[in-house]
Amino acid sequence: MTIEEKSRKTLAELGVADAAAVPALFAELREAMQREREELIARGAGSEAERQQLAKALRDRWLGRKNGILAYLDESWLKSAPKDLKPVVGREFNQLRQLARELEIDRLIRDLTIRLEESPSVKGGIVKSVGGAIPWDAKVNVRIGASLTLPGYRRPLGSIHPVTRVQREIEDIFLNLGFTIETGPEIESVYYNFDALNILENHPSRDDWDTIYVDAQTVLRSHTSPVQIRAMQKRGAPLYIIAPGKSYRRDNPDATHSPMFHQLEGLAIDTDITFADLKGTLDFFAKKFFGEKVRTRFNPSFFPFTEPSGEVAVSCPFCDGQGCRRCKQSGWIELLGCGMVHPEVLRHGGIDPERYSGWAFGLGIDRFAMVKYDINDIQLFFQGDVRFLEQF
Ligand SMILES: [Zn+2]
Repeated sequence: MTIEEKSRKTLAELGVADAAAVPALFAELREAMQREREELIARGAGSEAERQQLAKALRDRWLGRKNGILAYLDESWLKSAPKDLKPVVGREFNQLRQLARELEIDRLIRDLTIRLEESPSVKGGIVKSVGGAIPWDAKVNVRIGASLTLPGYRRPLGSIHPVTRVQREIEDIFLNLGFTIETGPEIESVYYNFDALNILENHPSRDDWDTIYVDAQTVLRSHTSPVQIRAMQKRGAPLYIIAPGKSYRRDNPDATHSPMFHQLEGLAIDTDITFADLKGTLDFFAKKFFGEKVRTRFNPSFFPFTEPSGEVAVSCPFCDGQGCRRCKQSGWIELLGCGMVHPEVLRHGGIDPERYSGWAFGLGIDRFAMVKYDINDIQLFFQGDVRFLEQF
């Protein structure tokens, strides 16, 4: 007699009149239930749809509201049990119901892996079907006709994000020159973000249209420059650091702006540091990054924290300065801002400007990555689209 048939008969019809005989009856059910579950798990499913279907079938067989085995047991064993058997049947039935929780669909799905069976056990079988529902041979416990030509399941490997990749590349160049990497908080005080960098009270960048304020004294840092001050205060001079990291500005996202972006700050402080050191270092850096044949061009500029200040462009590495789409036909690509550290900034860092001098620069890592990989929309970096990211 099958389990279903038994579950549809009363205990009296099964000839059970003694409480001592009840546990063995339920033990058989528990074993059957567990065996069916284990068999299903060992078998696995060929697809997500099949997994859902298999899990639901096993669950319904036991726990279906109308025709499930437990529903019948409730009717024909428990409810119609004679009074003296009721306690033991009730207890056993509850235990079975506890165990049956393992048959809930989400639990089954968690354990039921999707896999493609290997087919060597298909004796003499000819590969006929590719994909689709593959019949199951219970005797040899493998799918019949599974295709040997199908590739195995491959776990996709991630890759390094292009921004991270470029950041590391720049870091390596400066690490080889003896610089160290310094980091600082992204939630920064107004003092470190502006005051200590000689950015005066009325400077437009302090406007809350440009900078994201947490409160009156706290901002999301609008550049990585505050790390300069923190490093000076912590380490003193001489100092050779780079500070890569995230910065934030109140910019609407478009092809060239993102409210969150990546900067890299460089700072060198020592005795007898001159503008020539700055030029030489940045020229070396540009050649390492873009190739030996590029030239650098310094134009005068203004920043509150450097004096004198400059902007550096590199001859277009893609057209040798002839003019192309990537340099907008100008032959030059704007790289970064730089200058000699303002004496006021050195003082805020606790360094004597009479004794020490230094230079600093700041560059956009995202922009470097856009130039390097010929990407025309900065938003692509932050949208998390695998189709874009897997190209790197
Ligand atoms: Zn060009």
